[in-house]
Amino acid sequence: MSKEAFNPLVEIRKYFQYLQDLGYSLVPNCKEFSLKMANGLTSKEADLLDFFETLSLCQDCGLYRTRKQTVIDKNFNQQDIMLVGEYPSREDDFNGYPLSGSIREHLQKMLLSIGLRVEDFYTSLVVKCKPPYGRLPEEEEISLCKRHLLREITLLRPKLILAFGNLPPRALLGESESIITVRGKPFKFRESVIIFTYHPNYMQKNPAVKRLIWEDLKTFKKLYESLK
Ligand code: SF4
Repeated sequence: MSKEAFNPLVEIRKYFQYLQDLGYSLVPNCKEFSLKMANGLTSKEADLLDFFETLSLCQDCGLYRTRKQTVIDKNFNQQDIMLVGEYPSREDDFNGYPLSGSIREHLQKMLLSIGLRVEDFYTSLVVKCKPPYGRLPEEEEISLCKRHLLREITLLRPKLILAFGNLPPRALLGESESIITVRGKPFKFRESVIIFTYHPNYMQKNPAVKRLIWEDLKTFKKLYESLK
């Protein structure tokens, strides 16, 4: 009777599968060797999945009480370029991912003008849960939630970020920054370069900014081309 050779890696994998079946997701005190990694994910992907799990359960500010769900782009296949918006719309809250619904259609048109699509980007928001009754996020909510965006950028390490609206410069550059003064200029942020521009919703109410957004998109495209 043939006897299968003992393979410690196979046995370890079986043991991790057994732990996972019991409901464990990490080996305690052994982050580098998580069950997700045992299942073939890279360390970066495993860290991102852990981050998504933590984020989806976050209750750091009062917005968790009224959200349908935390809004997260769990598709991290696109990591080189990132879009950052402000806070979830009703459609985002329903769909569970950022920049969805009608805003996505506007963004798609804008990005197609420079030969890109929303799907080419990893998408994110400064505030991850929808404020109730159509109100804007409050200072405290922005300040508590922006650490998630910072963590996201640290984990993803995108080369380029295109950010829309007033909240991203305030969250990433400082409270007193305004889109009016920072738009269109490349800012180095950790390992990334960011271009800030006006929000597509603002353009709908103020068609005059369309030309400025177009200039900013062209700047972004030049930087993108220089990556190749
Ligand atoms: S808005 Fe941000 S800080 Fe507040 S509960 Fe949601 S994820 Fe947490």
